[in-house]
Amino acid sequence: MTQIAENISATTQKIRALETKYSRSESSVRILAVSKRHSEAKIREAAAAGISEFGENFLQEAEEKIAALTDLKLSWHFIGPVQSNKTRGIAENFDWVQSVERDKIATRLSEQRPDDKPPLNICIQVNLSEEDSKSGTSLEYAQALCELVTKLPRLKLRGLMAIPAPEENFGRQRHCFNLLANEYARLQKLFPEMDTLSLGMSNDFEAAIAEGSTMVRLGTVLFGQRA
Ligand SMILES: *Cc1c(COP(=O)(O)O)cnc(C)c1O
Repeated sequence: MTQIAENISATTQKIRALETKYSRSESSVRILAVSKRHSEAKIREAAAAGISEFGENFLQEAEEKIAALTDLKLSWHFIGPVQSNKTRGIAENFDWVQSVERDKIATRLSEQRPDDKPPLNICIQVNLSEEDSKSGTSLEYAQALCELVTKLPRLKLRGLMAIPAPEENFGRQRHCFNLLANEYARLQKLFPEMDTLSLGMSNDFEAAIAEGSTMVRLGTVLFGQRA
């Protein structure tokens, strides 16, 4: 087994154990492997070990990998900040965009999504830390953005995503995730098509699973340190 295959196996077992520990249904949490700044060869190793969904933050880097890996049936999630001049490349190459935080970006992604592809899956990114430096819309504005996405013809609303400020304390990690989980539960009543709560990274995925995450975005625990 390669190191990456071992990491994937160990992390998957850990996630299954956490589902049990926090009374989550079995396999309700899936792994998005965050492959930014990791090589195509490492992505191939992860795919061989059963991973099919990959997250990338930078359009140019991702375009090269996606083009080189078309022989594998992978699903690609854009998870980095979306600049207006990058929406066309993102709409053409990705299956999901998890980092939609402005009306204008949602509108452009819908306009630029090619007709021969299925609608682009969308998560609204929410800023939980209320720091100006962090990306994401406010909790208050998330509903309006969800409404817009449901009206745009080439987009499909899937859920919410957040990246809290780094925090070592488990209780405070949970508290932060809980704020978003509550909003997700409320919005799901208005938008029943939502099925994705994208929360948790290598250093806080236990707290995220405890609070209801359905997708953990893992880089370092699967691939090791980034170059
Ligand atoms: C880099 C990144 C991750 C993965 O971070 P790790 O700590 O390496 O697991 C997850 N989500 C987003 C949005 C990222 O940019």
